Amino acid sequence: MKTSVLYFVIPCYNEEEVLTETAKRLYAKCQQLIRAGKISASSHILFVNDGSSDSTWEIVRQLHRKNAIFSGLSLSRNRGHQNALLAGLMYAKDYCDISISMDADLQDDIGVVDEMIARYEGGKDIVYGVRNNRDTDSSFKRGTARAYYRTMNRLGVEMIPDCADFRLMSRRALTGLAEFKEVNLFLRGLVPMIGYPSDKVYYKREKRFAGTSKYPLKKMVSFALEGITSFSVKPIKMITNTGLLVFLASLVFLIWGIAQKVRGVTVPGWSSLIVSIWAIGGLILLSIGVIGEYIGKIYMEAKERPRFLIDQVLDSGECKVDGEIGLLR
Ligand code: UDP
Ligand code: MG
Repeated sequence: MKTSVLYFVIPCYNEEEVLTETAKRLYAKCQQLIRAGKISASSHILFVNDGSSDSTWEIVRQLHRKNAIFSGLSLSRNRGHQNALLAGLMYAKDYCDISISMDADLQDDIGVVDEMIARYEGGKDIVYGVRNNRDTDSSFKRGTARAYYRTMNRLGVEMIPDCADFRLMSRRALTGLAEFKEVNLFLRGLVPMIGYPSDKVYYKREKRFAGTSKYPLKKMVSFALEGITSFSVKPIKMITNTGLLVFLASLVFLIWGIAQKVRGVTVPGWSSLIVSIWAIGGLILLSIGVIGEYIGKIYMEAKERPRFLIDQVLDSGECKVDGEIGLLR
């Protein structure tokens, strides 16, 4: 049987502190898998440089020079994690049988890769790496993550809880993913929509090996909102329903007001008036905001701007499976 070509796809943004170690560990894993006949010797470790401003790309070039098993894509500028990952996957799909995407910071456990490949051999097209606990997260991150998954679920978005972007995808699944043309990218919601047979493997997520998180709170919040508005129109429906309720309530008040007038007991009513003005005003602004979010999305999608542009590609030469890569300590 022909062995499968595996591409590891690793998005990297300013990861100079951790990249050498990541490369070393991935290389060891590839060596082991190739020797065991699990994957083809023309497998690759593909780093996607997402417009880093440090020496990330220089390190990738050095690695590639040392051993062609390391290949690299460099995007024209920083486009964000999701776009960088997509760039790597879309590049890999023309060459690989299987892709495994993971973060550069060694939080994802390389140890479960064997299991992922075994599930693929067993006929699965997508194998999700799911964290079995959130011990390494702050309690704030844990709480918000849980609330988020619950909200997404209620909004009807099919997401795998506790699965970041550590997953195996077959070539067929990647070809399926390529059919989704949206610019507002939220891969965690998109991949389950592909629909081919899938499975999960569980792993313990470690702390970042070195360097700092490239996802500050602000980015995380906008990523979460992106997920909601990219996959669900329920917030708009909720606005319609709230609007309807408020309208009905105002009808009741109208009748009550007339009745009071007829009975001649109208009071100055300044406070209730001012409260309702603020309440309705707030509601209207909020509603316009939510609708604006969706219109903004339509605007971005209508422009059909490219999701990423590739500046440089390093992918040539012969992979060496034996021996050490001299550069790596
Ligand atoms: N990343 C990227 N572009 C960005 C931000 C992050 O390619 O604009 C990469 C980053 O190098 C890492 C992965 O996305 O490989 C996840 O980022 P990070 O580990 O900082 O996020 P966290 O684990 O803290 O949520
Ligand atoms: Mg991380």
